[in-house]
Amino acid sequence: MALITKAIKGTQDILPDVVYKNQFLEQALLDIARKFGFRELRTPVFEHTELFQRGVGETTDVVQKEMYTFDDKGGRSITLRPEGTAGAARAFLEHGLFNEAMPQKVCYLLNCYRYEKPQAGRWREFQQFGVECFGTASPAADAEIISLANEVFAFLGVENISLELNSIGCPECRKNYHAALKEYFEAKKENLCPTCLGRLEKNPMRILDCKSPVCKEIAADAPAIIDYICDDCSKHFESVKKYLEKMNIEYTVNPRIVRGLDYYTRTVFEFVSNDIGAQGTVCGGGRYDGLIEELGGPHTPSLGFGMGTGRLLMLLEAQGIEFPEPSGCDIYIAPMGENASYEAAAIVADLRAGGINAQTDVVGRSLKAQMKYADKIGAKYTMVLGDDEVASGKAKVKNMDSGESTEFELSELSENFLEFIVHQETAALGESLDLDGVDLSAILNNL
Ligand code: ATP
Ligand code: MG
Repeated sequence: MALITKAIKGTQDILPDVVYKNQFLEQALLDIARKFGFRELRTPVFEHTELFQRGVGETTDVVQKEMYTFDDKGGRSITLRPEGTAGAARAFLEHGLFNEAMPQKVCYLLNCYRYEKPQAGRWREFQQFGVECFGTASPAADAEIISLANEVFAFLGVENISLELNSIGCPECRKNYHAALKEYFEAKKENLCPTCLGRLEKNPMRILDCKSPVCKEIAADAPAIIDYICDDCSKHFESVKKYLEKMNIEYTVNPRIVRGLDYYTRTVFEFVSNDIGAQGTVCGGGRYDGLIEELGGPHTPSLGFGMGTGRLLMLLEAQGIEFPEPSGCDIYIAPMGENASYEAAAIVADLRAGGINAQTDVVGRSLKAQMKYADKIGAKYTMVLGDDEVASGKAKVKNMDSGESTEFELSELSENFLEFIVHQETAALGESLDLDGVDLSAILNNL
């Protein structure tokens, strides 16, 4: 019994009292992305396992240790997406988007699944906001997506977040680097974890990203890729930095960043905060010039980033950043008796159609209990509707803050209430507005 009333380890519920923060954040992220020309893409939660093996990379932690993989009833191997890029790249290919004008800019908000050890900032189900820009090799694009992430933090008022930048070169310049890494790790191989021992032959760079403390310690003094990159990659990196400087985006070069996914080339970056504990990387991304080809498409240099919205929310909380709370109940209509209850149902329907948050009794409570409930849900106004009010067609609307009452014709309530409440509430704020031709429900929602 206990099992069914407990969410699965590493997953979490977001309750109605909190969800407005997620909604605000999601809207802000999509709005910012839109300004940069990124349009939302939605892809399935699960894909063929092979997509991630190929797209994320066989030797990555994600593929080797973290995927939720299972056979469906048709015997296909299915994996819950651990990240968004592979699915976006698959959609790009499947729908022939490479025939469209380049670059193709898409963004998404999606839940990802990784079988990791749950801890602060690390869950088994988590949401990522991501952007992908397909079809450009220009360093201007690298700087553009970095500035998008930067704009997110600036818009939200986040402080103390640093941009760490590196170049991990192309497959060409990586050949020499792999040789140097192999030589370095070969000498210390008896201390590497079993997974990294396997990586030594196949992909020694992955050892740099291992979470095992011993491997981390060994990797600390390993040769840095930045010392091995070829002239073209170096030129590209210099240019990215120049664009960032031009846009006044501060960065530090961190030669230790290699990123956890195999498909990255050239620019890689992370936005890191010290305010949320050990899982401080809020955003990570970079270039993946070879991915589309790896998946069977035409050569399409591309890039993107993923931002964990859970970690971003933790950071906003830690820095005391406030979210605009949505407005609650504007008016509670309290009917007395069956007849009034029918009238109340019709009145709230009209008010809602006009953009008002209107509530009435759907429990069958006494008037006293209804008033208590109206108070609990924070109703700004209440109206008691008895047989007398129904008979006379008039009723009083009471301002719950000031106690002041105003009489309305019931037949005109839905028509006049919105303007009335916006006037009242803006007056209470000490603002006097000319409301001619203005979208009143939009104002109401923002009060
Ligand atoms: P980490 O080093 O923290 O494991 P990663 O390199 O695996 O991160 P990416 O695959 O680049 O992360 O994912 C991009 C972003 O998604 C991360 O920077 C982080 O904000 C978020 N993220 C990744 N894994 C998790 C998780 N298990 N729980 C919550 N957020 C996560
Ligand atoms: Mg990880």
